[in-house]
Amino acid sequence: MRIDTDAVVVGAGGAALWAALELAREGVATAVLTKLYPTRSHTGAAQGGVCAALGNLEEDHWEWHMFDTVKGGDYLTDQDAAEVLSQEAIERVIELEHMGLPFNRTPEGKIDQRRFGGHTRNFGEGPVKRACYAADRTGHMILQTLYQQCIKAGVTFYDEYHVVDVVFEGGDASEGGRVAGVVAYRIADGEIHTFRAKAVLMATGGYGRAWRITSNAYTLAGDGMSLVYRRGVPLEDMEFYQFHPTGIYGIGILLSEAARGEGGTLLNNDGERFMERYAPRLMELAPRDMVSRAIYLEIRDGRGIGGKDYVYLDVRHLGRKVIEEKLPDITDFARIYLGVEPLKEPVPIQPTAHYAMGGIPTDLATRVIRDPSNTVIPGLFAAGEVACVSVHGANRLGTNSLVDLLVFGRRAGIAMAEYARGAAMPDLPPDADEAVRAEIEALRARRDGERPEVIRAELNLLMDANVGVFRDETLLSGAVTKIAALRDRYASVAVQDRGTTFNTDLLEARELGYVLDCAEATAASALARKESRGAHSREDYPERDDANWLAHTLAYRREGEQPELRYKPVTITRFEPKPRTY
Ligand SMILES: Cc1cc2nc3c(=O)[nH]c(=O)nc-3n(C[C@H](O)[C@H](O)[C@H](O)COP(=O)(O)OP(=O)(O)OC[C@H]3O[C@@H](n4cnc5c(N)ncnc54)[C@H](O)[C@@H]3O)c2cc1C
Repeated sequence: MRIDTDAVVVGAGGAALWAALELAREGVATAVLTKLYPTRSHTGAAQGGVCAALGNLEEDHWEWHMFDTVKGGDYLTDQDAAEVLSQEAIERVIELEHMGLPFNRTPEGKIDQRRFGGHTRNFGEGPVKRACYAADRTGHMILQTLYQQCIKAGVTFYDEYHVVDVVFEGGDASEGGRVAGVVAYRIADGEIHTFRAKAVLMATGGYGRAWRITSNAYTLAGDGMSLVYRRGVPLEDMEFYQFHPTGIYGIGILLSEAARGEGGTLLNNDGERFMERYAPRLMELAPRDMVSRAIYLEIRDGRGIGGKDYVYLDVRHLGRKVIEEKLPDITDFARIYLGVEPLKEPVPIQPTAHYAMGGIPTDLATRVIRDPSNTVIPGLFAAGEVACVSVHGANRLGTNSLVDLLVFGRRAGIAMAEYARGAAMPDLPPDADEAVRAEIEALRARRDGERPEVIRAELNLLMDANVGVFRDETLLSGAVTKIAALRDRYASVAVQDRGTTFNTDLLEARELGYVLDCAEATAASALARKESRGAHSREDYPERDDANWLAHTLAYRREGEQPELRYKPVTITRFEPKPRTY
């Protein structure tokens, strides 16, 4: 089937929904396509909070928030983007409040705020209360609120449509082509639908499923990044992947930083608050890259609990009232998945793969760019975790992702509406879906071949071992070679389900292809970057090297070869790079 519309939004998480809402407000015909039911998007799993310098409990200013974002990102953050983020955060959070989001409140009825890692008062003096929250279900509330608003505004949703290709007119992105639409596979019956559109937004979230120990939902396979990477769009700063310090030991399910924001501590086998040694001022509220490294250093020095590879998160002293009102879900996770009662016992945790700082490169209007001189790809937009503006630089601060969705999701809607009003409908050849249709048919028809889960399991173990918190030349070159070998094996992968009805076997096999693309770009970019910055920590190059590496990476896919890497300058406006201590 062929559907014509002015704008297509791929995804229905926080970034996508705000964009769709803005498009509806502007009266632009829009189709929102999502492989999940919208309220199942990962945004709904976000726990701890969304930050804005409201100053409801103590003095705060957007300039402080901007500084923290830049320093938190180890000076790789584009400062014009951080300025937009921290200024507009305030308006967006208040707008969400007016939409009806049930924030926790202060006794006077203002939005309550709590501490989070790396958010400070007066340019680094000490922690500040900046995270607005709804218990530990902030993302759930944001997603539900935005979905309600979209329904009210009459947004058209195509639920359970898995987008399998992005189509261009006049050549791929690298050849100067413009976007012409997307091809989607309807999960219910396997039918292929082509959507012709002037503007397409990629808002498909992250790719945490490249690792085994991850906080990410099963569906986060980097679809959006991979689909445009295959069409000539580079991926930016993929070597910067965040490992959140407090995943449930052995499974990676997240225990929000809000636990530490409320006063939870980290303990080693000697019962010591070891963060004293690594970040004497902010302690457990240091940025995530530092806390995750500290945990592994403790473990390496034999101070993991019982000599094993985990430490404790302790919230016992917070008391029942704080835990029940502010951290109910995550304490339940500890009970359900570990059988540990956080009111009485410390909880075993280990770092868990969590968030992509890198992604599809965009400008401040979320327009996707294709080279170091910021040439815009007409009609293509990206926002949310899939995108790299770059507000998070080399390491994202907690609560800065949800606010990124709100600020840049809205900006995407506005920019797309403007573009769609000025552009003619693209020409979409009748065979626009032919290439991907053939790929899917070949996959369905293949009789002998490896099962996708075998390759996925090997990839996951490899990424945990070689592309984790600490890296070096040997680990990363091993990863590059082995990912290339896994990609070769993937070329002859086979599925068991050959049907058309809810064929998740087939779609998971496709997702493995996406995640392999993201892993390839990550490992290649990480191997090339010979310095340590933010979440990219090279033991063979332990120092940050601004003289040579104060630059964004752009990785281009090259068929049958390693990605080609180019570099792009970082935008510095107010804050000159300094050593980063907390
Ligand atoms: C457990 C957890 C807790 C977190 N807590 C916080 C927090 O407290 N504060 C904070 O700031 N950040 C937090 N984060 C990070 C933040 O939640 C995410 O970065 C953010 O929600 C991503 O939103 P998104 O709109 O980019 O995409 P998502 O919400 O991930 O949505 C992706 C959408 O894309 C769709 N999609 C994907 N592929 C396809 C395809 N091929 N075809 C069609 N549709 C597709 C999906 O169906 C889905 O609708 C947390 C993350 C996790 C995992």
